[in-house]
Amino acid sequence: MNKLERMKELIEKIDLYNYHYYTLDDPIVSDKEYDQVYYELVDLEKETGKILPNSPTQRVGDAVLDKFVKHKHEHRLYSLSKVRDYDDLEKWCNDMREFDADTNFALEYKYDGLQLVLEYVDGKFFRATTRGNGEIGEDVTLQVKTISSVPLEIDYKEKLIVQGEGMMTKKAFEIYNRTAEVLLKNPRNGVAGAIRNLDPKETAKRKLEFFCYSIIYCQKKFLTQEEMHEFLLKNKFNTGHFFKICKSVAEIKKNIEDVSKKKSSLDIDIDGMVIKVNDVAPRDEIGYTNKFPKWAMAYKFEAEEVSTMLEDVVWQVGRTGKVSPIACLQPVELAGATISRATLNNIEDIRKKNVYLNSRVFIRRSNEVIPEVLGLAEKFENSVEIEEPTNCPCCDAMLIKKGPLLYCPNHDGCKEQIVARLTHFVTRDAFNIEGLSEKTLSQFYDDLGVRHYSDLYHLTKEQLIGLEKFKDKKADNVIASVQRSKNIEFYRFLFGLGISEVGIKTSKDLAKTFKTLQAIKEASFEEIDEIEDVGGVIAQNIYDFFRDENNLNEIERLLNVGVKIEKVESAKSDKLKGLTFVLTGTLENFSRAEMSKLIEDHGGKTASSVSKNTDYVLAGVEAGSKLDKAKSLGVKVISETEMLALIK
Ligand code: NAD
Repeated sequence: MNKLERMKELIEKIDLYNYHYYTLDDPIVSDKEYDQVYYELVDLEKETGKILPNSPTQRVGDAVLDKFVKHKHEHRLYSLSKVRDYDDLEKWCNDMREFDADTNFALEYKYDGLQLVLEYVDGKFFRATTRGNGEIGEDVTLQVKTISSVPLEIDYKEKLIVQGEGMMTKKAFEIYNRTAEVLLKNPRNGVAGAIRNLDPKETAKRKLEFFCYSIIYCQKKFLTQEEMHEFLLKNKFNTGHFFKICKSVAEIKKNIEDVSKKKSSLDIDIDGMVIKVNDVAPRDEIGYTNKFPKWAMAYKFEAEEVSTMLEDVVWQVGRTGKVSPIACLQPVELAGATISRATLNNIEDIRKKNVYLNSRVFIRRSNEVIPEVLGLAEKFENSVEIEEPTNCPCCDAMLIKKGPLLYCPNHDGCKEQIVARLTHFVTRDAFNIEGLSEKTLSQFYDDLGVRHYSDLYHLTKEQLIGLEKFKDKKADNVIASVQRSKNIEFYRFLFGLGISEVGIKTSKDLAKTFKTLQAIKEASFEEIDEIEDVGGVIAQNIYDFFRDENNLNEIERLLNVGVKIEKVESAKSDKLKGLTFVLTGTLENFSRAEMSKLIEDHGGKTASSVSKNTDYVLAGVEAGSKLDKAKSLGVKVISETEMLALIK
């Protein structure tokens, strides 16, 4: 195929993708795959020096839906050009300095939402529109009015047009999906579908946010992006979590690296950073293409979503007997790893995600999080429904259904369940026994008859070296590690027992509250349920666990083989008793974990989000949205020094 034909083919593909993404708000490929096709076209246009008249590289992509009243923008709106690596970024910065030798650069998050333009007249919110194709957008005033962070009145009384991004927070996305019949694939689709929905009540349900990053029209003149940012802040716009002025390329890079490390912990999806020439004066001279301002540039982070074929589903038995579906995928590269398996939760989740065997599905992986199937990308003629098993895939016992979840009831006879329990028992956060992988424990099950945790403490070197691939040294190491694990902190002991849904945090809360094994064994359901953050279901799991004779016998066996639970120290003081703290920003003298421990040692509690129940927000350097929230709720904000004074 010659290059021109290929270009035509790529344009057709991109048009199809754009239709699904912009018109239907239901993409069929990931952004990563879209960008690959788009850049192939960009490169071919450069190579051939030809641009076909309908090329998507020459226009802002969004479709304008007929169902909305159309609005012609007074000022043309643009997309953003992107650099593909740091070399490109450096080159662009140098090019910008040709126009303005002394300019700094403003660095902002690249919010992955839907661009919105808001107009204010006489200090009152007047109109909101989508970017559309840059010249014409959709009037979404009623929809945007439902966003609580959009100020309906501002101090500035002249006409003002601002630009920002409508966003769905990850939390709002998760809450929405908990009860949704058809799951939203990601927050970006969530926001686009919510704003471009004729029923504002539907928009309101998705609890959107608006992050304002630019001024498009204002009679007042601004010298820099920084001044615009300050003006927006003063007029009570939510300007988001990040704004930095960088003097050099090195500084920009350093900030991009820092943000890229922490981005998965943010409550919003950002897909990169935007770098803008801070000085406003040279912008006109630097100019615009049909599609981009040349004075702004985006640096995109490595993609976290991609689509691939769902080839099979296997059902895996976990340590509590829960039988969960695992998606077997056509291997695909994502965020630096080859992904071939992803979680699917349960049959209800499969139905809500509308995925099939032999269908193409979206998957997501951020940082170390286990890859997850998000939803359907494309269904084919040979796509078939995924069926739920009736019997345990490991021991063939008849499965029990509790809500959408399946359980194998064969607690003491199902190998997969037992090996999963043993694997959990030896993990670092539990008994921390080194050298025992799931595979090794499966070998112990088959060849040495290991069934209970306590069986591990009876293993002898002779038994181990009799096993395949067990050399002298490895056997010694395992035996030594088993012995070392006998002295154990109380919460790790509790965690190791593998009580259903009891993680590290609950184990710590239990240890701190009850202090001894005897006290937990005797605790009533109500006493357990009273612990904050322990919900009714988990409290019931804990209560039931300590009423089960098999469990009690196993605990007894562990104590008999010499496991010793270390005494739980009491709080160093109870000066912070009853107080809840939220930490935000970087502290000067403590890591967050150290500060949390200090607070706990003095009887206080830490929470991850600010609410009316928060007593103090401890704000370090670069405190983010939690600080804004504290201010808006009137929660007291204290510094590190003030914190230390509280426990002095
Ligand atoms: P873009 O989303 O990559 O970048 C431009 C947009 O970023 C701006 O218009 C603005 O809305 C937003 N933005 C966020 N933070 C900003 C800030 N601080 N300052 C200025 N702008 C900011 O470009 P686009 O033209 O909106 O869309 C193209 C992209 O959309 C593609 O690269 C692809 O990732 C995605 N897309 C995907 C599909 C698909 O099928 N998956 C189809 C079409 C487009």
